[in-house]
Amino acid sequence: MDEVKDISLENVSADDERYMRMALREAEKAFDEGEIPIGCVVVKDGVVIGRGHNQVEMLKDSTAHAEILAIGTASAKIENWRLDGATLYVTLEPCPMCAGAILNGRLTRVVYGSPDTRFGGCGTTVDVITGNALKREVRVTGGILADECLGLLKAFFQKMRLEKGDSGNKGVEPSAQL
Ligand SMILES: [Zn+2]
Repeated sequence: MDEVKDISLENVSADDERYMRMALREAEKAFDEGEIPIGCVVVKDGVVIGRGHNQVEMLKDSTAHAEILAIGTASAKIENWRLDGATLYVTLEPCPMCAGAILNGRLTRVVYGSPDTRFGGCGTTVDVITGNALKREVRVTGGILADECLGLLKAFFQKMRLEKGDSGNKGVEPSAQL
């Protein structure tokens, strides 16, 4: 019998679950604010230097993704846009925009929870990271606490549907793909 090996779980550090739980706390803030619950933390040398949660609705800004906001706070914190050596933890696989921001910010590693089968930019629907034109080396680890990360998203869309009194899925919500 062949050994089953989960490639995505290579390079998992002991701290990955701990930091992903912090990202989940950020996602819960988004949930409470009526935003699609995605959360993110940026960690460097064992210190959380940036946090963010999805605020697209509140800021009325389609670029206000958790990762963009966390990268912004991390850069402000260390007063440097170069985030070499930093790891970004996010509950849902970064979209292509955020994967581009991760390259631009020179982060060293990305750890995500649930894959995004709709618009994942780190290998699930497109791969902005691997073999990127900037020749930046970014390690990607997926699937950390994936069930919890996806569960929060599913709970959110279920709540939205209930509040709308809409029992049928019209196929226009992101939840259709989650
Ligand atoms: Zn994004």
